[in-house]
Amino acid sequence: KQMKTLIMVIFGGSGDLTKRKLMPSLYLLFSRKQMPPNFAILGVARTKYTDESYRKHIKENLKKYIKPQEFDSSCADSFLNTVFYKTMDPSIADHYPLLKQRLSQLDKLIGNPGNYLYYLATPPVLYETIPLLLQSVDLNKPSPGHEGYKRIIVEKPFGHNLESAKQLDSLYTSIFEENQIYRIDHFLGKETVQNMLALRFANVVLEPLWNRNYIHHIEITAVENMGIEQRGGFYDKAGALRDMVQSHLLQLLAVCAMEPPVSFDADSFRNEVVKVYQSLKPLTASEIRNQIVRGQYTASENGKQHRVAYREEEKVDSHSRTETYVAMKLNIANWRWDGVPFYIRTGKQMPTLVTEIVIHFKPTPHIMFSRLTHCPLPNRMIIRLNPNEGVVFTLSMKIPGAGFNMGQVPIEFTYDSLGGVPSGDAYARLLEDCMQGENTLFTRSDAVEASWRFLDPVLKIWEKDSKIPLHNYAAGSWGPVAADRIIKADGNWSNPCKN
Ligand code: NAP
Repeated sequence: KQMKTLIMVIFGGSGDLTKRKLMPSLYLLFSRKQMPPNFAILGVARTKYTDESYRKHIKENLKKYIKPQEFDSSCADSFLNTVFYKTMDPSIADHYPLLKQRLSQLDKLIGNPGNYLYYLATPPVLYETIPLLLQSVDLNKPSPGHEGYKRIIVEKPFGHNLESAKQLDSLYTSIFEENQIYRIDHFLGKETVQNMLALRFANVVLEPLWNRNYIHHIEITAVENMGIEQRGGFYDKAGALRDMVQSHLLQLLAVCAMEPPVSFDADSFRNEVVKVYQSLKPLTASEIRNQIVRGQYTASENGKQHRVAYREEEKVDSHSRTETYVAMKLNIANWRWDGVPFYIRTGKQMPTLVTEIVIHFKPTPHIMFSRLTHCPLPNRMIIRLNPNEGVVFTLSMKIPGAGFNMGQVPIEFTYDSLGGVPSGDAYARLLEDCMQGENTLFTRSDAVEASWRFLDPVLKIWEKDSKIPLHNYAAGSWGPVAADRIIKADGNWSNPCKN
């Protein structure tokens, strides 16, 4: 299944994702000699470029988005010799025969038997059109007389609710086989996410504790200190629940809560992910009102820094009720997790950029030390995905000296001790996996459906009931105070920069 020869066609080749993530990751794979021996990359979009001007544009961005120590100008030039560009509108059927012609020319140039990997780095409105138009010129099937693989990588969000996700899925499965479809969620490509599997399933000391008997509650936070930048047109229609919760946060929850897969292969791993989604306890209408807090950032001043309100952002409706923050309490109804609340939250314009999971263990059943002025705090494990990936486990220890008082000390693991995390790891890892036909870390169709099924009632109630509050929070703060209420029974949110 490995593509030894291939042309990668990037729809949306002029866009943000391409310049910030895809091209830098492809360059890194190239510089590490991890690209197939024979390949070409064809950027496709409406913006006019020649091959030369496109290479120049990509080179400028490689310099910007790759760490200086990993950028080598002559290596970048060799990489860019494999990059080509086709100006076309991917929504116009007449442009596809010309695309096919260009691909045949490139096939001849590099000796490719029609192996194409399509990357949909476009706004989601094109996720239906592009596969249909590829099919109209037979670019979805093996080339006649050749084995020519065709694979397609689709960015999130896959659908915008349960119904549209199902429709999109049936369209994709009518055009491609499931094993040709790679639904990407780059969180799954991150080292720490994969390391969670190692942490849980390669360490006998942890797994016995990883359940309702020892874990009190779990927090999952993925917040950013930026606004929506130039993504207003997309974001205002999507909001934080669709943009972050349905994909990234539920993926993290699944890796954290899953049962041990029988082996680390695509089916075993993805079966366990789906089981977690299917075990999410459906939220009742009253839980949707009381266990979920949505917010939107308002303008703020901090010294010289002025942060604009969400409603003042480019391409955002000035009366928008789109949430830029969500905090929610979830329960997993299965043997392992019954009664253990999961608190998840995401937001734009928060004080810091951080993604982390905090496992709060239960307190000891009995405190035998008399004369304590303060009790030992329960153990916590903090799994940080971004930035400074690593793991911290806190233990209570006696503070030296008189009395018998406790302090918490961290046991820390950072990736430096294992040689550091290579940059651009998530996209590079997933692109390489896809070229090798390895789809374990891509989302399967039933997982997409199960995650939307869980969130669909929330979206429906939010749409129908205009009385559901949308709490304001000042840009740069930790979100609406109302969110404290939902976690109150179990403590406070662990705001990372305060720890
Ligand atoms: P983008 O910059 O808004 O769009 C990519 C390209 O698509 C644009 O350069 C544009 O090229 C083309 N395009 C836009 N609207 C079009 C239309 N109506 N018809 C035809 N072409 C159109 O998007 P992006 O930020 O790169 O993101 C691409 C996808 O990746 C999105 O689905 C996004 O949700 C997902 N994603 C992005 C990021 C990120 O960091 N940016 C992260 C995770 C996921 P032309 O105008 O030249 O045709």
